[in-house]
Amino acid sequence: MGRSTKRGTRGHVGALLAAVLLAPVMIGLVAAQGGDQFLDGIGETALVARYQFSGNAEDSSRNHLHAALQGSGAAFVEDERFGRVLELTGSGGYVQLPGHAVAGEDAISVALWLYLPTGASGPVFDFGQNASRRLAASVSAASGFSAGVAAGGVLGSTEPALVPVNQWMHVTVVFDPPNGRLTTYFNGARAGQAAAAGITVAQVVDQTAADANRLFLGRSQADGAPTLPGKLRDVRVYRVALTDAQVAAISGAASGRQGGRGRGGAPAQEISTAAIPKESPLAARLERVPDVQAETIAGRLPRLPREIPAVYRDQAQGPVVRVIWPAPTDTLQVAAPGTYVVTGKVPGTSFEPKATITVKPAGRAAPAPARTLEPFALGRVVLNQDTKRRDTPFIRNRDTFIKGLAATNPDSFLYNFRDAFGQPQPAGATQLGGWDNQTTRLRGHASGHYLSAIAQAYAGTTYDDALRADFLQKMNYLIDTLYDLSRKSGRPATEGGPFNDDPTRVPPGPGRAGYDSNLRAGAIRTDYWNWGKGFISAYPPDQFVMLEKGATYGTQDTQVWAPYYTLHKILAGLLDCYEVGGNRKALEIAQGMGAWVDARLRALPAKTRISMWSRYIAGEYGGMNEVMARLHRLTGERQFLECAKLFDNVTVFFGNADHDHGLAANVDTIRGKHANQHIPQITGALETFRGTGERPYYDIADNFWDIATSGYMYAIGGVAGARTPNNAECFTAEPDSLWEHGFASGGQNETCCTYNLLKLDRQLFMYDQTAKYMDHYELGLYNHILASVAEDDPGNTYHVPLNPGAQKRFGNADMSGFTCCNGTALESHTKLQDSIYFRSADDKALYVNLFVSSTLDWAERKVVVRQRTDFPYADTTRLVVDGSGAFDIRVRVPRWATRGFVVSINGRAQTVKAEPGSYVTLRRTWRANDTIDLRIPFAFHLAPVMDQPNVASIFYGPVLLAAEESAPRSDWRPITLDAGDVAKSASGDPATLRFTIDGVTFKPFFETYGRHSVYLHVTFK
Ligand SMILES: [Zn+2]
Repeated sequence: MGRSTKRGTRGHVGALLAAVLLAPVMIGLVAAQGGDQFLDGIGETALVARYQFSGNAEDSSRNHLHAALQGSGAAFVEDERFGRVLELTGSGGYVQLPGHAVAGEDAISVALWLYLPTGASGPVFDFGQNASRRLAASVSAASGFSAGVAAGGVLGSTEPALVPVNQWMHVTVVFDPPNGRLTTYFNGARAGQAAAAGITVAQVVDQTAADANRLFLGRSQADGAPTLPGKLRDVRVYRVALTDAQVAAISGAASGRQGGRGRGGAPAQEISTAAIPKESPLAARLERVPDVQAETIAGRLPRLPREIPAVYRDQAQGPVVRVIWPAPTDTLQVAAPGTYVVTGKVPGTSFEPKATITVKPAGRAAPAPARTLEPFALGRVVLNQDTKRRDTPFIRNRDTFIKGLAATNPDSFLYNFRDAFGQPQPAGATQLGGWDNQTTRLRGHASGHYLSAIAQAYAGTTYDDALRADFLQKMNYLIDTLYDLSRKSGRPATEGGPFNDDPTRVPPGPGRAGYDSNLRAGAIRTDYWNWGKGFISAYPPDQFVMLEKGATYGTQDTQVWAPYYTLHKILAGLLDCYEVGGNRKALEIAQGMGAWVDARLRALPAKTRISMWSRYIAGEYGGMNEVMARLHRLTGERQFLECAKLFDNVTVFFGNADHDHGLAANVDTIRGKHANQHIPQITGALETFRGTGERPYYDIADNFWDIATSGYMYAIGGVAGARTPNNAECFTAEPDSLWEHGFASGGQNETCCTYNLLKLDRQLFMYDQTAKYMDHYELGLYNHILASVAEDDPGNTYHVPLNPGAQKRFGNADMSGFTCCNGTALESHTKLQDSIYFRSADDKALYVNLFVSSTLDWAERKVVVRQRTDFPYADTTRLVVDGSGAFDIRVRVPRWATRGFVVSINGRAQTVKAEPGSYVTLRRTWRANDTIDLRIPFAFHLAPVMDQPNVASIFYGPVLLAAEESAPRSDWRPITLDAGDVAKSASGDPATLRFTIDGVTFKPFFETYGRHSVYLHVTFK
């Protein structure tokens, strides 16, 4: 931008510029190839788009935001340094990015390689809507390079800095609204900075009407204005404000320092922590933290108590304290029977409690737990309005998704399948976008989620015959089409024609020397007769073959995305159509593809499979072990159970090929791992246990649950969000270190992860009726799953951001372009009723897990239970039993129920022993209209970050409260609370869950759509 009415503050310009100009000629080609999850140490979550320009204008990030060359005078040319690059001649040629590429971001960084000829002037990039709303950078032959941002009348612009010509130069522009800064970099070093206070990305780029956004490289917003003469290479757009170190890494100036895989030190906290003390607010009051004793058996790490009741000075009462124990990476300490001592620490204090651990001989293995509970079929539980005839949050979310699903065209979800098999598309069929477009190697994943959602919607809409008929018709149409396609695989296209029915002998596509992942229209192979019997997918078999041959994750045609991940969604969808929806043909399709997978994997050496499953993203297989074990359960065919075990992620499950440690031995092997890659493997391990009864598979699930929910969990019940490694989708590099290694910029908790954790909660609870599982279920359900949906449509979140002043971003309102989380959202919100009640397998007990208005048809006992409540807008619920008989009703006493749990039956108060975090048993011979009234008084409570006790979230009962924010923040919202009782600092209305605490407005996070802070810097008065 040429003008600068408001000059930025910029120190030592001359010195910086001189340093840049005197720097030795840039070293090191940008080595990382497209699709590396840790591109230059930065997680892919932060990357919006990447245009390498090595022969085309495709986006090589996973978002597939392909750009277009416009005008004349833009061509790819040979270049000495980079091979092929894009050359703009300055005679009208430029690049245009899709208008929605940067909608919805809180910060923008643009990094690119630029080569300017002598005397070059012109726009480098210009992102915005018009001349007065834009983020742009330009170069002038006379004065140099500058960047500017404008929003209405407000401007920020860096002072021009001279750029060397006739050589490659790495240029970065970082627009950081929370800190009100615009910064430019040359070759990884700061070149200029301007204040840009009060300007947000939303003012520059239209967040809703993508067509209003004009995103250019090499041209400006002004039509007909001169375009840039120069060469471009590796243009990257990030959704985060890159730090100095990150810019240095991208430019190559700091290669090696950052570590190519992002395993270097944690990048600096982008939110200021200066005001937050390190000392715990409890430190001065604590007198002693007692030592503890623990037991384990040889070969298995002990489970030490994470929370210990502490002794406070003057015999005062106080909360339990969090203890962080060492987390070994092997089982050496417990190799033999004996005793040893470990020392823990209480964060923010000098207390170091000790744990004395007795290691007993391993002896006989403990008996495998039995599955003693069963869920109710979806149609047997119907959600109701609350006592005031208002739609509950559950009904609102259910209906918005049901309505959206009813409006979908199944042909869109079949499009890529028909395309893969070279079949014509019916009239009106359109391809999905997002991760299901023509060239995305994950295409078909949304169709799998869709199959599950349609089956659940059919099963669950017993309250509406017309809807139910519509979903049945959709499900049958989907399955009939997929069935016909799957029957084509490995059979001659025409009678007597060539074919290969052996899954292990799939040849390369016709006219090709090898296998590739080229799915472009016209190039995709469609010779289904060669694909082996039973094959079904939305792409040809090549990606599976390539993975076996060592292909990595990426966007080149020699690379793959995650073929088994997609297949898991499809198979799970098919099995749901059978198991939940009753469609027999769906099971047949799944059997055929299951046999195809089994044949291929069985033919591989174990070390090839280990290599595949531990290959980053490429080897991500969702819950393939789960669907294979499920196939065994549904068909009785043993081969599928054996195949499930071929998906064992040996390193994570068992430590190594000798099974020396791993999750099975309670060793934390998930540190730094991609969360959503691994959680479904765990539910798969549990399903494998269900089929085999082999105890280690149960221990894997049980230990994982404990490790993940105590060492890596955020306030909303989700996990991951790492800053180290620098990828918001990963668990932090070490357990118990969210403050040190978590709170990534660009999102913390991926919604899929919580969907999968809830699945694990309920599956474990079927074996072990410990309340902790359903306590976590409630936490994640209310505060992440319900909180992940837009106010007025089924748009939903990918990551839920938890940093101060953040805002949720909802996508896919029209169900036309899916990320993974948009896919799991379809499933979550068509089964919201599935865990309110469970029954014991012998039908002698009913479990009431959640307090949600609903009607249960317990057909096995001819009993109907109606639950009427305004929960969580009231702390009471009423259960009315219709039917009769002697059985137990077991009701969850939530962990947060610290102020009592009042039960009355038919109006008479009952004496019950109701410990928070347990189930209370109500045993009697029930008669029609017996009424149980429950009151569970809510209280405010704080949930501190485990390694920073001064930063905490506030809950009211089960509900996470969010502070309303009007703008992005550069600090953690400070709040002062009464030391004894948060309630003394709060006023408000429990019936609406709106509160004012220390002058700040709070409301439930699940009803928050604007900016919020859910973690607060707490000071006690
Ligand atoms: Zn996801």
